[in-house]
Amino acid sequence: MSGPDAFARTWAAVLTETGYVAMDRRGLVDLVREYTEVLLAGLRAERFQAEPVERIGAGLVGLRLAGPETLRASLQLIGSDLLRVTGAGELRAELLPAVQGAFAAGFATAMQEKIFRDQETIRRAALEARRGAESALLASEARFRAMFNQAAVGIAIGDADGTLVEINTAMAAMLGYRADQLRGMHVNDLRYPDEPVAMRRPFDDVAAGRRDYYRMERLLRRSDGSPLWTDVTVSLIRAADGTPQYLIGMLEDITDRHVLEERLRHQANHDPLTGLGNRALFTERLNAAFGHDDDTRVGLCYLDLDGFKVINDSLGHDIGDDLLVAVAGRLDGLLTAPGRTVARMGGDEFVVLVENSSGRAEMINLAERILGCLAEPFPIGGHRLSVSASIGLVERAVVGATPAETMRDADVTLYWAKADGKNRWAAYDPDRNAREVARFTLSARMPAAVESEEFYVDYQPIVRLSDSKLIGVEALVRWAHPEFGRLGPDQFIGLAEETGLIVPLGRWVLREATRQARRWHDTYGDRAPMVSVNLAARQTEEPNLVADITTIIKAANLPPSTIQLELTESAIMNTSGGPLRTLRDLADLGIRIAIDDFGTGYSNLAYLRHLPVHAIKLAGSFMEGLRDSPSADPADAQIVTTLVTLSHALGHVVIAEGVEDPEQADRLREFGCDNAQGWLFAKPGRPEEIERWLDK
Ligand code: C2E
Ligand code: MG
Ligand code: MG
Repeated sequence: MSGPDAFARTWAAVLTETGYVAMDRRGLVDLVREYTEVLLAGLRAERFQAEPVERIGAGLVGLRLAGPETLRASLQLIGSDLLRVTGAGELRAELLPAVQGAFAAGFATAMQEKIFRDQETIRRAALEARRGAESALLASEARFRAMFNQAAVGIAIGDADGTLVEINTAMAAMLGYRADQLRGMHVNDLRYPDEPVAMRRPFDDVAAGRRDYYRMERLLRRSDGSPLWTDVTVSLIRAADGTPQYLIGMLEDITDRHVLEERLRHQANHDPLTGLGNRALFTERLNAAFGHDDDTRVGLCYLDLDGFKVINDSLGHDIGDDLLVAVAGRLDGLLTAPGRTVARMGGDEFVVLVENSSGRAEMINLAERILGCLAEPFPIGGHRLSVSASIGLVERAVVGATPAETMRDADVTLYWAKADGKNRWAAYDPDRNAREVARFTLSARMPAAVESEEFYVDYQPIVRLSDSKLIGVEALVRWAHPEFGRLGPDQFIGLAEETGLIVPLGRWVLREATRQARRWHDTYGDRAPMVSVNLAARQTEEPNLVADITTIIKAANLPPSTIQLELTESAIMNTSGGPLRTLRDLADLGIRIAIDDFGTGYSNLAYLRHLPVHAIKLAGSFMEGLRDSPSADPADAQIVTTLVTLSHALGHVVIAEGVEDPEQADRLREFGCDNAQGWLFAKPGRPEEIERWLDK
C-alpha cells in the first residue's frame, strides 16, 4: 500500500460501488482525499478528538451515501488499509478503533437525522394532501346540498331497508308533505294502494343488492291520498365490502304527462260517438281472454241493429247518431258486471265480450236481455224509434280456439240470426257451419263445373191422365260432383240463385234441353215430347233473357211451342215491370209458361188472369190428401178440385206433380186434371229411358 492518494482513490471506488454519488468522480476523490487526511490526523493525534472524524461519517450521509453497505465497506477499508498508508507520519494502531467508532457514530447520527427529516417531509406532505382533499370534499358537499335542495327533481336518500333519511324540497312538495314528516317514513308508506305488487319487485331487488339500479314509472300516494305518477330512478350505494349501504331515489312528477297519455290511450281505444270501447280495445281484451291454458271459457254476443240504414237514410244522420248513442247507453247500463266489455265495432255493430263465461245458457240469457232492453222505443228528436237487433252468439273454451276463429264464427252466426228473420239471437252451431262451408265449397266450384260440363240433365215424363200418353218431359239438372258424387238440384240451385250462377247454369240447361228436344224431334217428329225447363226467378231479371232464349231455340231450330218454361208461383207472382215484360215477350214468341209448385205460395188468384200463363203445375204436397188412407186430409181434395176448376176457367192446362200411386191418379182423373208427373209413371232418368217409353 502506498500514500494517502492511493487510499483515497480506493475509498472513492468503494463508495461508488455501494451507492449513488451525486458528484463527479474527480470531485469525489478530492473530497475523500480530504477525509483521508482527517482520519490520518486522528491516528497521529496525541489526544484523540472524535468530532472531526464524526463529521466525516456525517459527510458521507450528506452525500446521500447513507446506506448500511456504505458504512460497512468504509469501516472495512479503514480497518484494513489506513494504518498501512505510507508517508503520513507515525500512525498509532491503538487509535484505529476510536477512529472507526467516531466515523460510525457520525454516520449513524447523520443517518437518523436524515430518516427523521424524510419522515417529517412525508408527514407534512400527507397532511397537506389531506387538507387539500378535505377542502375539496367540503366544497362538493356544499355543492351537493345546494343541488339537493334546489333540484326540480325529487331526491330521497334512504337506508338499505328503505327508510327515508333525507328528502329534498321538491320531493316533499310532490308528495304533499314537509321534509321532516317524510324523514323516518318507509318507501312502502308512499305506495299507491292499487299499485300492482309486481311493480314493487325492482325496488326490492335493488334494496336487497340483487341489482344496482332501476328506472320505471311508479304510482305513489300523496299525503291527501291522491295518486302521483312518477318516473323513478333508484340507485344502490354499496359499502366497501359490497353490502347495500343506502339508496338514492330520484323522482320526476309525470302525473300531467300520464293524464295526457291516459286521455290519448282512451281516445285510441274508445268510440268518440258513443264513448264505448272500440274495435281496438275489444280486440285487445279478446286476445287477453284467450291467454289461458286452463278450462277458461269465453262468450261473445255480436250484435247488429236491424234496419238501422232505413232510419239513417230517412231521418238523417244526426238522428241515426243519437239512436246509436242511446242504444250504446242501454247496452252499457246492462253490462256493468266486471269481465264484460261492450264495444262498438263500427256502424250499427256492437259486440259484448264475456270473460270467464259459464256456458251457453249464460250467453243466451244475456242475448235475451239485450233484445229485451232494446224493445222499448227510443224517444229521439220528437220520434219514438223502434229498433231491434240480431245477435250472433258464440260460447266456448279458450283452449283449442283462437280469437280470430271466434270472431269469424260470431260474424257467421250474426248472419244466421239476420237470415232467420232478424230481431233474434242465433247460437253458433258447428254442423250448420260445416253445411254452409260445404255450400260455399260448392258455390266456389260451380263456375268451373259449368264450363267443364259436370252437370247433366235428367228427364221425367209428363203424361196425359186420360190415356197415359207421354206428352212432355221435365228437364231436371244434376251435378256429377267429382268429390261429393251425384248432387240433386235441391243441394245447389238455391246456392246458384244466391250467387247469380243460376244465370249461366240455367242457360246451359236450356241449351242442353233444346238440343235433346231437337234429337227427339228428328227421331220422333210430332210424337216428340214437349220439353219443360225450370226458370229461376233470378233469371227473369236478366235483361238478355228473351234474346238468349230466342237464340237458343233458333239454334235448335225448334217450334217455340215445344218448349215450356216453369216458374215457381212466388217468382211469377212477384213479377212486375221488367220481368213481367220478359214473360209476355216469351209468351208472345209462342213459348209456353207454367206455374211450378202451384198452391204452395199465397197467390192472388185474381192476378193470375193478367199473367201470360199456359199451364199450372199443382204442387206435389196436395197429393198426400188424395191417397186412399185414413190420414189423408180431405181439404186437399177440395183444394185440388177448386184449383182445377179455376185453372180451366182461366184457360190453363193443369199438371199434377208428385203422383206416386194409382189412387191419386184416379182421383185426379175424377177431378178433371189434364196431365200428371210422378214416380207412378217414371222417375227422372236419362234420355234413353224416355226413348224406350216413346218406342213402346
Ligand atoms: P220441381 O220443378 O218441382 O221438380 C220436381 C221435383 O219433384 C224433382 O225433384 C223430381 O225429382 C221430384 N219428383 C218427381 N216425381 C216425384 C214423386 O212422385 N214424388 C216425389 N216425392 N218427388 C217427385 P228434383 O229433381 O230434385 O228437383 C227439385 C227442384 O229443383 C225442382 O222442383 C226445380 O224447382 C229445381 N230444379 C231442377 N232442375 C232445375 C233447373 O234446371 N233450373 C232451375 N232453375 N231449377 C231446377
Ligand atoms: Mg219444375
Ligand atoms: Mg214442381
